[in-house]
Amino acid sequence: MAKEYDLVVLGGGTGGYVAAIRASQLGMQVAVVEKSELGGTCLNRGCIPSKSLLRSAEVFKQTKEANEYGVEASDITLNFAKVQERKNRIIKTLQQGVHGLMKKGKIDVYEGFGRILGPSIFSPMPGTISIEYENGDENTMLVPKNVLIATGSRPRSLPGLELDGEIVMSSDEALNMNELPSSMIIVGGGVIGIEWASMLSDFGVDVTVIEYMDYILPTEDEVIAKEVEKQLKKKGVHVVKGAKVLPDKLQKEKGVTVEAEINHHNETFSADRMLVSVGREAVTSNIGLQNTDIVIDKGFIQTNDFYQTKESHIYAIGDVIGGMQLAHVASHEGIVAVEHMADRNPLPLDYDTIPSCIYANPEAASVGLTEKQAIDQGFDTKIGKFPFKAIGKALVHGESGGFVKIIADKKTEDLLGVHMVGPHVTDMISEAGLAKVLDATPWEIAHSVHPHPTLSEVMGEAAMAVEGNQIHG
Ligand code: NAD
Repeated sequence: MAKEYDLVVLGGGTGGYVAAIRASQLGMQVAVVEKSELGGTCLNRGCIPSKSLLRSAEVFKQTKEANEYGVEASDITLNFAKVQERKNRIIKTLQQGVHGLMKKGKIDVYEGFGRILGPSIFSPMPGTISIEYENGDENTMLVPKNVLIATGSRPRSLPGLELDGEIVMSSDEALNMNELPSSMIIVGGGVIGIEWASMLSDFGVDVTVIEYMDYILPTEDEVIAKEVEKQLKKKGVHVVKGAKVLPDKLQKEKGVTVEAEINHHNETFSADRMLVSVGREAVTSNIGLQNTDIVIDKGFIQTNDFYQTKESHIYAIGDVIGGMQLAHVASHEGIVAVEHMADRNPLPLDYDTIPSCIYANPEAASVGLTEKQAIDQGFDTKIGKFPFKAIGKALVHGESGGFVKIIADKKTEDLLGVHMVGPHVTDMISEAGLAKVLDATPWEIAHSVHPHPTLSEVMGEAAMAVEGNQIHG
């Protein structure tokens, strides 16, 4: 028996389940096929669990520093089992929330492995979905008018560097460690590597980050990456740059030892454990793409601006199509895709307006072009920069490192990019995102009154600083 739907979503992560909800709002009959847990990487193995651990690390560090605030605390110890319990509770609560949302939207959830079949008796086009179940139950067949592939990504490793999940881990396993190691080598100083470096260091772990490039956080504006590095080093993280890890020199005896080539010399690094965070690859295997004309380039499914693949009734969104591999990007791509299926004429996403955030301590966040990208694209730029140390609330808060940098076009006054590093900037970047969506100029940002005393004043001051008119600096 085959069941018919307007839309079947393959993958119930943040991209897939949000798209399913929007489709149901638009009156579609929707099913989601999920092989593991609803919520996908973000909720189960990514954003949420890592942010929970980061928060525990922050509380631990702040409690140790409580004396500075006049709060006397002693014998502060960490109960890592409780840290993990709290994380798992948060995941459970949110999982239940997503199940509730599926119910509310009358969205059918199939807990199995979905595969796209070629043209068949059920459908003249590829797109019938066969669902296989781990317990051996008979396959279910779904016949949708549209398919949305939202199968996400998984951690990749370096060629020859095998992840054993215990000594040499990806973030998937690191999130479920029963106890903290005393030392950790982190291979890759990108977003995941730096969040983990910050968290582990705040938990008291001795951390070494080994980064291939000559700088960490390669996608961030240079001054932001430098400030994050400065603050990480201040708390004791060893940052090794321009270093090529040599997988064939890996040894796993009493922890892990590896060599890296730095300036034509080999250096040896040892630790209890190793975390490999060198990027994530799309999950496209075994989902039946060979039965379709869908094009894959460099491992990622190719789509148009409305996320249609070469098979116009099969769409793909999120990490599986590459680009900005962020949960909020996946959900918005899902909404655009579904509105396109429903002939709602959605606007294509403008990726220059989408914030990205790094939840290390210090936090970093950005939207739009870096200064280098703006110059490379031929813009004549002007810059406004303002430090948190001149913001009263940052001193009250006890975190006054970092700054905001605004890049504008000299000719048109257009806002090109906003880059932030410091306390709570991941919550403050939305203002910059809105400014980009509304095409606001720095003058308009400055004209919008920022309440005092708040951390957000730094944004108003940085906007005024574009014309050299900052008040407190
Ligand atoms: P990434 O692409 O951000 O960083 C990978 C880093 O590894 C880069 O700095 C790269 O230069 C380095 N690298 C590559 N090969 C190396 C080698 N041989 N030796 C040493 N270093 C090497 O990848 P990631 O940190 O694994 O994150 C994966 C994706 O997940 C990213 O797209 C990221 O945006 C996303 N993510 C986002 C968040 C967030 O929004 N806060 C959190 C986690 C992950």
